[in-house]
Amino acid sequence: MDAAVRALVWKRAAHRCEYCQLHQLDADFFSFHVEHIVAKQHFGSDDADNLCLACAECNLAKGPNLSGRIGNRIYPLFDPRKQKWKRHFHWDHTILVGKTLTGRVTVQVLNMNAPARVMLRENLFFEGRFPPD
Ligand SMILES: [Zn+2]
Repeated sequence: MDAAVRALVWKRAAHRCEYCQLHQLDADFFSFHVEHIVAKQHFGSDDADNLCLACAECNLAKGPNLSGRIGNRIYPLFDPRKQKWKRHFHWDHTILVGKTLTGRVTVQVLNMNAPARVMLRENLFFEGRFPPD
């Protein structure tokens, strides 16, 4: 992946994870990843329209997944290039809530309300840096 595409992804995301909205400056240790929405394993391309910025937690939990399961049904994960974040998610204080089945399954698969992640948001809240605009 070339440097210009990488720079575009970072700028387009305004240095926020496009799944959980954490800002790189608020992340604990790891640099955010330029993530393939459709993984190379599933023949996803390196084109900018298949890339997003993701924090390490979201990206590692997502892996090559394209969908998740609620009950006996399979639903597609949120696609930051094709879908609007606010249509699929909202904040209940520091808990991320899926408003749609896609939102719900994405919260579940990406483990977005893991205790350490909620605790980080609580700390950011008390510092006045959460929720994001
Ligand atoms: Zn994230």
